[in-house]
Amino acid sequence: MTAVPRAALEHAHASASHASAYPASASPASRPPASGDPTWSAQHYDLELHCDVAVNRLEGVARIVGRAAGDLDALELDLVGLAATAVTIDGAPAAWTQHPERLELRPAAPIPAGASFAIEVAYGGSPAPRATPWGEVGWRHRGEGAIAAADAGAAPTWYPCNDRLSDRATLRIRITAEQRCRAIATGALVEETTDAGRTARTFVTRAPTAPARTSLHLGRYLRGAATRAAVPLVAYVPSALGPRALGDLAVVPRMLACFVERFGRYPFDDYTIVVAPDALERPRESLAGAVLRADRVDGSPAAERPLAHLLAHQWFGAGVGGADLQHRWLDDGLARYAEWLWSEAAGDASTDALAHEHHELLADSPQDFALTDPPPELLVDDRIGHRGALLVHALRVALGDLPFFALLQAWAAQHAHGPVTTDDFRRLAGAHARAGTSLDALLDAWLLDPALPPLPSRARRGRGERARLRGR
Ligand SMILES: [Zn+2]
Repeated sequence: MTAVPRAALEHAHASASHASAYPASASPASRPPASGDPTWSAQHYDLELHCDVAVNRLEGVARIVGRAAGDLDALELDLVGLAATAVTIDGAPAAWTQHPERLELRPAAPIPAGASFAIEVAYGGSPAPRATPWGEVGWRHRGEGAIAAADAGAAPTWYPCNDRLSDRATLRIRITAEQRCRAIATGALVEETTDAGRTARTFVTRAPTAPARTSLHLGRYLRGAATRAAVPLVAYVPSALGPRALGDLAVVPRMLACFVERFGRYPFDDYTIVVAPDALERPRESLAGAVLRADRVDGSPAAERPLAHLLAHQWFGAGVGGADLQHRWLDDGLARYAEWLWSEAAGDASTDALAHEHHELLADSPQDFALTDPPPELLVDDRIGHRGALLVHALRVALGDLPFFALLQAWAAQHAHGPVTTDDFRRLAGAHARAGTSLDALLDAWLLDPALPPLPSRARRGRGERARLRGR
C-alpha cells in the first residue's frame, strides 16, 4: 500500500477494530424503501448496459424472466433515479407508470398464476445513490470511475429489479464503457471485446442471487490472481495504488482453506475482491465477491478481520442467506464469528478471548432491541453481528465442537443458494443437540430478549454446566 500514510491507517484500524462506542446509527429520517413485489419472482436478469463514465450516463435494456405467484394484471419493478423509455411484456408493448422508486407495469392481458413471462425495459439516465435508513446506498460516480456496491436497496439505482432478499435469480450483465475504464460486475467474466475505444465485458452467474448481492465497478484497476487456491481468486486494486497493494491480499488463499475446513465446500466457482479507490463507509459482500476500502487493506493483522468477514459471507449470506433483513443476524453473526475463527487459526486471539471481549463491549452498550427484531435504522448496526457471533459461540459451548461444526457445514450445504429464516436455523441447531437436551432456552434468551445473556466460557465449562444444559 503506497498511497495512504501509515499513521492514517493505524488510526483507522484503531477506531474500526474497537467499536467501543457502537456509533449512533444512521438517521432514521427516511423510511426503509418498500422494496420488491411479492406477487411475482424473477428467474433471470439479462442486462445490456452502456455507460459513459466520464459524464455519468447509463443507458440500459433489462430483460427479465419472471414467474407469477398469483394472477397478475399489474406488477412492479424497483427502479430509482432512472427513467424507463419503453416496456414490453412477452413481446407486446405494456403500459407503465413511473413512480419515484418503482415502475408499475400493466400487461396487455392478465398473466395467470404460475405462468412465466418476459419483461423488457429500456431505461436510462444519470445514476445516483439513494438514501435509506441504513445510509446512502447504490451508484456513486467519482471522476473517472463509478461504484455500485452490493447493499440492501442498491441495485435499483442501476437496473430495474424485484429487490427482495428472498428473490434470487441468475444474471448476465454485458457492460460497454470507455476502454480505459475496466468494468467489474457480479459473475464470471466470460467475454471481452474492444471496438472503437469502447470495451464490452460480459459477466454470468451460475448460482442465483438477490439483487442486493450484485455489484458493478468501473474505473482504472490492476488485476491480480492467485494461482494456488481452492478456487480461482481474482483481485482488483486501483491502478493508483500500484501492484504492491495486490500483495496485501496474499492471506486470502490461506483463509479460504481455513474456512473450507470449517464450513465445507466453497459455494461458488470463484471469488473476486475489489479494493475501492474511494471511501466506502463499510466493506460489502456480493455473490462470489467483496469490496473493501483501500485504506483498510494493508497486509496488517488488523486488516485481516474484514477480509475474513467478507469471505465467510460467501457461505453465510451469499450462499445460505437470510430471507429478509430481520434474519440478518444469521449471516452477520456467522461472518463475525468467522473473524474470530480466523484469528484463532492464525495464532492470534482465541475465539473464547474475543467472545469475552465483545461480550464486555455489548454489556456496556444499550440493549434496546431483540436480535430478530431490530428497527430498520439499526439494520447495519454492529451490535447485530456481534451479538449474533456471541450467540454462535454460546451455541458452540452448548453443543461441543464436533456437533457445532457439523451444524455449520449442514447449514451451508442443506440450504445452499436458498433464502432462510431464523426458524430454519433453530430447527437445524436443535437437530444437532444431544438427545434429550433442548436449545430453546439458550436461543430464546439470545434471540428474543433485548437483555444480554451471560456468556458461557469454553475454558471454564465444567461438569456442572454440562449437567445444567442437559437438564433443560
Ligand atoms: Zn457482514
